[in-house]
Amino acid sequence: MKLSVLAEPNDRRIAVVPKVAQKLADLGVQITLQSGAGNASGFSDADYGDHVKIGDRNACLQGQEMIIGIHPLDDEELAQVDAQTVLVSEFKPFFDKEISDRLKQKNLQAISMDMIPRTTLAQSMDVLSSMASIAGYRAALMGASHLTRYFPMMITAAGSIKPGKVLVLGAGVAGLQAIATAKRLGAQVEAFDTRSAAKQEVESLGGRFVEVEGAKEDTGAGGYAVEQDEDFIKRQREEVQKRAMNADVIITTAQVRGRKAPILVPASTVEKMKPGSVIVDLAASTGGNCELTEDAQTVVKHGVTIIGDSNLAAGMPEDASTLYSNNLFNFLKLIIKEGALNLNFEDEIVQSAYITH
Ligand code: NAD
Repeated sequence: MKLSVLAEPNDRRIAVVPKVAQKLADLGVQITLQSGAGNASGFSDADYGDHVKIGDRNACLQGQEMIIGIHPLDDEELAQVDAQTVLVSEFKPFFDKEISDRLKQKNLQAISMDMIPRTTLAQSMDVLSSMASIAGYRAALMGASHLTRYFPMMITAAGSIKPGKVLVLGAGVAGLQAIATAKRLGAQVEAFDTRSAAKQEVESLGGRFVEVEGAKEDTGAGGYAVEQDEDFIKRQREEVQKRAMNADVIITTAQVRGRKAPILVPASTVEKMKPGSVIVDLAASTGGNCELTEDAQTVVKHGVTIIGDSNLAAGMPEDASTLYSNNLFNFLKLIIKEGALNLNFEDEIVQSAYITH
């Protein structure tokens, strides 16, 4: 089977690192790597060794049975790909609802890494968790570095400094990592989530769970949160507003699959925050949890720095690429047998990820 690995035009990560390329070669796959694709993650072409062919982008787009990247190709490049090629990327079909039809019309097949179910069995393939964990860690670091004040309590000869207060909204994978990191840096952390299961997780990390009664939950939603009604959102905003006025850093990660992110921090709350405070909004790409967030921008509004970044994992490209490609390999070894594609559509993982089937 011929497989290529593309460079990401707008991302420092690469989907396959040298160690994983070696493991794929051991599965009997012939790999072509786009020249220089690993450079920004710290992997040179030479690091990939002799079992990987180096080619230009055209060589990676044509004559392959499988093309691997992190972000989907644009229509212009899709037109260059041979029919029946299997594309592996994060297609985000919950947001790009026509993607599987568009690919099917072009006679292409697609595996969407973000559609792998969040089950125990698929945990080793879960790119969303790996990337969210890095994003949460970096969100806490960015909050700390943009803040005009300390995170830890400091007692010095020059005076005493009170510990910073961090409020985390959405305690999923990213939120929990943000809590753990902010705690390690010495901040006092409060967190909120609509899923009641999050309470225990927040407390086990030393955070304080903020209670807002009456959240809707759905055990059939695969562990994901469901959209809340207006009354709940209103009460939640009031609770957030009270805490936000005291917070030094707010980290927001609240997402609802396939929908716009809920606004949890309206402009009126930002106005009441202390100058020099920071909001790190990980939900920026789906509209943001803060009303004043601008996607992929850092802006200062009412004296508060608002960082809108849903791709914080790309800022730590070496480890992000390593984890991404380990997840990818764990999936590929399920569908590649003796160097050929072997798809079992009875398997829930294959069924969910294979969005053109
Ligand atoms: P996500 O990125 O979809 O959302 C982030 C968090 O925001 C979630 O915890 C969600 O409950 C919360 N949220 C949504 N709306 C909110 C609101 N209005 N106010 C406050 N919080 C709100 O979530 P995720 O981190 O990808 O995790 C999704 C689920 O999958 C979680 O239950 C997680 O524990 C589970 N999970 C399971 C596995 C596994 O078993 N293999 C792996 C990873 C994640």
